[in-house]
Amino acid sequence: MKNVAVIGAGTMGNGIAHVFAQFNHTVHLIDVSQVALDKALVTIGKNLDRQVAKEAITEAEKAATLNNLKTFTSISEGVKGVELVVEAATENIDLKLKIFKELDEVTAPEVILATNTSSISITKIASVTNRADKVIGMHFMNPVPVMKLVEIIRGYSTSDEVTNLIMKTSRQLKKVPVEVNDYPGFVANRILMPMINEAIYTLFEGVAGVEEIDTVMKLGMAHPMGPLQLADFIGLDVCLAILEVLHNGFGNPKYAPCPLLVNMVNAGKKGVKTGEGFYSWTHGTKELIVAPNFKK
Ligand code: NAD
Repeated sequence: MKNVAVIGAGTMGNGIAHVFAQFNHTVHLIDVSQVALDKALVTIGKNLDRQVAKEAITEAEKAATLNNLKTFTSISEGVKGVELVVEAATENIDLKLKIFKELDEVTAPEVILATNTSSISITKIASVTNRADKVIGMHFMNPVPVMKLVEIIRGYSTSDEVTNLIMKTSRQLKKVPVEVNDYPGFVANRILMPMINEAIYTLFEGVAGVEEIDTVMKLGMAHPMGPLQLADFIGLDVCLAILEVLHNGFGNPKYAPCPLLVNMVNAGKKGVKTGEGFYSWTHGTKELIVAPNFKK
C-alpha cells in the first residue's frame, strides 16, 4: 500500500500523515479547513526538525518526507489513486458515518478504510459501507511520531486478510500493533478513561489538589505524567466524549463522567488546545490553576 489518504489534519491527522510520509508512502492529507492543512504542514516541519536535531533522521529524509505530502480540501479529490484511507476527523459519530458513506461511494471497492477513532464502534462505522470486511480501527496514540502503539480494532466483519495487512503496515511504520476486538473504548480508553475520570472525581470531592493527584500517580505509579495533565493533553472534550461512549455502551454507572469534567467542557476549558484545563497552557508551559473548586 504505497498511496495513503489521511482525513483530518488536526492533532492526530498531522502525526499520522507525518509517519506514513516518513516511511515512503505518498500521503494525501485532507481537511475541510485550509487553515488546518497549513497548520499541519508547519507542525510536521517542526517535528521533522526536532527529529533531525536528535539525529533520528537526516536532512535528506526530512526533505523526502515533506515531498511525499500533498494537501486537499475535498475528499473525492484527495482519495484518487489511494489504496488505504485513514480517517482522523473530529470524534463525532454523525460526521464519521457521513465520511465513511462518502468514502464507500468515491473509492474503489478494494480500498481499505481505517479509522483512528478513540471510541466509536468500528462495526457501526462499517455498517454504512458496502465493504464491512475492509473497515478497521487503526488507533494511533498521541504524539503519533513518538508513540509506538497502534491499537488495531477488528469490527464484527473485518476480515483476517485486512487485519493482517494493517498489522504488517503498522510494523513497517516502526510501530507495535496490538489486535483487539470492537467493544466500547476498545482496550486503551476502557482502562485509561476511568482512571482519568477517577482522578477528576478525587479533585472534585476535595481529596487532594491537581498537583498532589498528578504527583501521586507520577512518582507512586511511575506514570510519565499525571492523569490530570494527560487529560489536558488529550482534550477534556475528547475525554468527555469517550466516557459518554463507555457509559452508553455498557450502561454501567461506573463510567458516568464527573460533573466537574462536564462543567469544564461547557465552560470551554478543554486543556492545552484552549490554553486552559486543569493547568494553564497559555505561555506554552504548564502552570497550576488554583480555582476555588480545585482547593483541598
Ligand atoms: P482535532 O480536532 O485536532 O482535528 C480534527 C480535524 O478534522 C480538524 O482539523 C477538522 O477541521 C477536521 N475535519 C472535521 N470535519 C471534517 C471533514 N468532514 N472532512 C475532513 N476533515 C474534517 O481532533 P484530533 O484530536 O486530531 O482527533 C481526531 C480523531 O483521532 C478523533 O476520532 C479522535 O477520537 C482520535 N484520537 C485522538 C487522540 C488525541 O489524543 N487527541 C488520540 C487518539 C485518537
